[in-house]
Amino acid sequence: MDKIRNFVITAHIDHGKSTLADRFLEETQTIQKRDFRNQFLDQMDLERERGITIKLQPVRMIYHPQALNSKHEIRNKSQTQNSKLETEENLGFRVSDLEFSNSEYILNLVDTPGHVDFSYEVSRSLAAVEGAIILVDVTQGIQAQTLANLHLCQKQGLKIIGAVNKVDMDFSRDFLIDLKQKIGELIDCRPDEIFEVSAKTGKGVKELLAAVVKNIPAPRGNVSGDLRALVFDSAYDAYKGVIAYVRVVDGKLQKNDRLKFFVTNAGTEALEVGVFKPKLTPTGILQTGEIGYIATGIKDPNLVRVGDTVIKLKSQISNLKIEDIKPLPGYKEPQPVVFVNFYPEDANKFGLLEAALEKLKLNDASLRFSRERQEVLGQGFRLGFLGTLHLEIVKERLKREYGLDPVVTIPTVLYKAILKSGLPGSARLAEASGVAQAGETKDIFSPNDLPTPDKIIEIKEPWILGEIISPNDYLSGVLSLIQYNRGIAGEISNISEKNVLLNFSMPLSEIILDFYDKLKSVSQGYASLSYEILDWQKGDLVRLDILVAGEKIDAFSRIIPKEKSYSLGKLTIEKLKEILSREVFPVAIQAAIGGDIIARVTMPALKKKLGDFGKNGGDRTRKMKLWKKQKEGKKRLGQFGKVNLPPSVFFEVFKATK
Ligand code: GDP
Ligand code: MG
Repeated sequence: MDKIRNFVITAHIDHGKSTLADRFLEETQTIQKRDFRNQFLDQMDLERERGITIKLQPVRMIYHPQALNSKHEIRNKSQTQNSKLETEENLGFRVSDLEFSNSEYILNLVDTPGHVDFSYEVSRSLAAVEGAIILVDVTQGIQAQTLANLHLCQKQGLKIIGAVNKVDMDFSRDFLIDLKQKIGELIDCRPDEIFEVSAKTGKGVKELLAAVVKNIPAPRGNVSGDLRALVFDSAYDAYKGVIAYVRVVDGKLQKNDRLKFFVTNAGTEALEVGVFKPKLTPTGILQTGEIGYIATGIKDPNLVRVGDTVIKLKSQISNLKIEDIKPLPGYKEPQPVVFVNFYPEDANKFGLLEAALEKLKLNDASLRFSRERQEVLGQGFRLGFLGTLHLEIVKERLKREYGLDPVVTIPTVLYKAILKSGLPGSARLAEASGVAQAGETKDIFSPNDLPTPDKIIEIKEPWILGEIISPNDYLSGVLSLIQYNRGIAGEISNISEKNVLLNFSMPLSEIILDFYDKLKSVSQGYASLSYEILDWQKGDLVRLDILVAGEKIDAFSRIIPKEKSYSLGKLTIEKLKEILSREVFPVAIQAAIGGDIIARVTMPALKKKLGDFGKNGGDRTRKMKLWKKQKEGKKRLGQFGKVNLPPSVFFEVFKATK
């Protein structure tokens, strides 16, 4: 255990985490040169193309302290002594100071996803390690995600090493000095203890790696105790089932051990046990403090959850004494907060879409979906995501990996409706006293789940607590954007000469549409954002319905703030009018709240002949009869409803009314 170091690199997106990991892999000769490709640990094509890290890939490296000097010695044979001293001076300590300078160290690097949607996953990776390198791009400075990740590391009590990256680029010396000062304040160390590296050229990387060994504490745990291992991630293999990525906290784990997952109560046998090199490499055993994997043979990914504790069953026949073992702290159910419906672009692709979602779920246990039927769009799915990036990734993977391009509804958040009690008497009582009686809470996953207003005491919506870092020059634009989106700005503090840190809170529903894009545009791309869910708060919310030819189109229903309902209703129906091909009869497009029509447009008929029926304002029953006839005719033609709404119409309306 003394020779193990477990750590993460954490950074704002694009600050060079994956590139630095590449240099570490090279420096420790973990990857042979011929096998090397950039951003090695980003394994999904999507990650490599977009340059973002979605799925973390742990890696185990072997580090020889002596190798630090030997390379240098060969190059400068004549001045061996000098150069050795020089290197040691750079390192800030002598290699021989290391307790085990002659032996090997095992370094486990866990790369973490750098996005807020995955902050629970990040927190579990952090629980698996003892230290963190916090990496800051010298041309960008501290960003919102830098701070968010730093908070998480500090909460976990990790030893933090500060490093400034990209020092090969053009930057201002003063900015660097200021930056090191600020990082020093944040992580409580001297500015000269912050490393200067270039992950691109390799400058300073050796020194940083040596600091990992020197400064990050070795893991601790009860070597002879009962097995407790933390699941910090998982993957799926068609033959080996779910692969649980674990950190052994106490005891040891061997192949063929009978295991149990604490939260899900799933039992299994360890088919294979090993480490990440970074390819899965069987070792047959994992000891206290180690990071590795277990092939479980389990086919249902729901049974292996991030944050769960793996324990060992002592006997083949019973669950002897497992009640004595306490699970590791920090487990949370993945809680989707953003919901959308997916409909296949054409109905006969429903089966393909379902199969693709099932497959994606194997590698993404936080993805939730269920079947949903919808009058016009037909059979589809309701999906729950951790956030909008998560949604984007799933959409993109469907397209790339399965060639599917479903129609996607406007994202909504998880609302909670407090219902009036079922008893008429008590509801009246609650109303009479003017105090909302806390009734039953109903989760509203889809706007169409919302009961009618007379049955609801109040609707609550999730709020976030956010941090924006922005250059001072754009502050006023950022502030008005927050206000426009129902947000409340809080404290503002300077974090460098040019940048300010702004705290704010806001309904999540405002964030998930296009707040981030708007933030980027008011700040010319410079502002960064991070947030976490705060709580559910009462909102003045209504459900906006859209009716076409008198029929409510469920896919257009949305829960929105009352104050925006009129303008959004109007915008939606006007957009619809613009897009819809004209029907042979005049069609009313209406926006409604509850039973009240708040806005209306009429699409004139395409052909005079049929339009005539409506012209004299006249005979409504005759008109209805005609519509009914036409409806039946269309049904025979295999179309839904009275008006033909192709999926593309929904897509366009969704886009236009965000
Ligand atoms: P990540 O999002 O934190 O994983 O960042 P990446 O490692 O993917 O790097 C983002 C971009 O910055 C890539 O284009 C890298 O080539 C580039 N980059 C990373 N480190 C350096 C560096 O030290 N110097 C320079 N010039 N570019 C770098
Ligand atoms: Mg990356």
